[in-house]
Amino acid sequence: MPPSPEPRRVSILGATGSIGTSTLDLIAGGDGHYRVEAVTAGTNVKELAAIARATGAAYAAIADESLLGELRQELADTTTRVGAGPGAVEEAARMDADWVMAAIVGAAGLAPTLAAVRQGGVVALANKEALVCAGGLMIEEARQSGCVLLPADSEHNAIFQVFDADRIDAIEKIWLTASGGPFRDATRARMMAATPEEAVRHPNWSMGRKISIDSATMMNKSLEIIEASHLFPVSEERIGVIVHPESIVHGLVSYHDGSVLAGLAAPDMRTPIAHTLAWPDRIPASSRRLDLAATGQLTFELPDENRFPALGLARAAIHAGGSAPVTLNAANEVAVAAFLDRRIGFLDIVAIVEATLARVETAATGDIGAVIMADDEARRRAEEMVLERSERTP
Ligand code: NDP
Repeated sequence: MPPSPEPRRVSILGATGSIGTSTLDLIAGGDGHYRVEAVTAGTNVKELAAIARATGAAYAAIADESLLGELRQELADTTTRVGAGPGAVEEAARMDADWVMAAIVGAAGLAPTLAAVRQGGVVALANKEALVCAGGLMIEEARQSGCVLLPADSEHNAIFQVFDADRIDAIEKIWLTASGGPFRDATRARMMAATPEEAVRHPNWSMGRKISIDSATMMNKSLEIIEASHLFPVSEERIGVIVHPESIVHGLVSYHDGSVLAGLAAPDMRTPIAHTLAWPDRIPASSRRLDLAATGQLTFELPDENRFPALGLARAAIHAGGSAPVTLNAANEVAVAAFLDRRIGFLDIVAIVEATLARVETAATGDIGAVIMADDEARRRAEEMVLERSERTP
């Protein structure tokens, strides 16, 4: 009998989040095929400890330094090594692993994702903000380390699966689908009054709060246009967006003979994650199955850029180049957090991103230091605008 293969070493950055939980579900169903090296979280120390205990992770890191004592206490009777602070999260990302899930939310994931890329191996990228801020750097670092960067975002993962990389000249266009979010049919007046509770209620997907708000403003699609421009060798004009409320078709590639190949699946993130986990093989996954007869109809429509101006901002940021995508992302993170804190209204989010892009000068972002400086500057300017708007709000 051939010896059973060594388990694959995996690490999960952002293990306590929505993507982290879906990833852990697949790993738990992996019949001992995986050995967990590192798991990380931001502040959710109890959940992180429970995950480390359940998976037997070698290392658990929490970004909030003040929680080191609590994490140590929670895991005192285990062999899991613990660490705290942003440096500890980066250390987790650097651990020897065959596969790393990069699923920290926001630009906070940039340094750890880059550390994982530098380590080589396979990095499944959910943390789109890292690619938006430093896509060029990330791709270059991956080339140097031999890291295979695989898109875990459902749209990019679907496109990746039907993208004929050997016949790039035959590709006319790639398409990202968008559900349209909870306000797909809403008027601007309705959106102006939207509460955080309404905005996080996505019709098809269960996701973290930040990406749920991004879906409601369609800034998520804006970030995904920039993400696609780094992942696929096609210019911005050839990245289309089409609204598809059922979230069944996730991405499409149009070829110059008229053929269109599409990636379909039920809206369950375990499917694209399983694809990255096994690539280039396939593993059985317990994700929801697609039942087209039960779905009945698949509908498509053009996005309304008047009601959802976020889409145009991505294209403008790509053309401006340099730090513009960093500014867009940072301003959005600040504005989303302010909306969730009820300091500004729903429509203020995109307005603040647009105003920050207009006020902050575009600079070169040749290295990570320049990216961090641009991110800091954009956050400062966006915070000023949040303050101005929150003072105006009765
Ligand atoms: P969640 O908010 O559910 O989870 C975020 C994770 O990041 C948590 O583990 C959180 O820890 C951790 N975290 C938060 N802040 C920090 C920090 N400063 N330093 C280190 N870790 C931190 O987000 P999602 O899982 O929804 O999304 C994760 C990423 O994946 C995002 O970039 C999102 O755009 C992308 N994505 C998500 C999809 C989805 O279906 N959810 C689909 C496609 C992409 P803690 O729990 O302690 O706060």
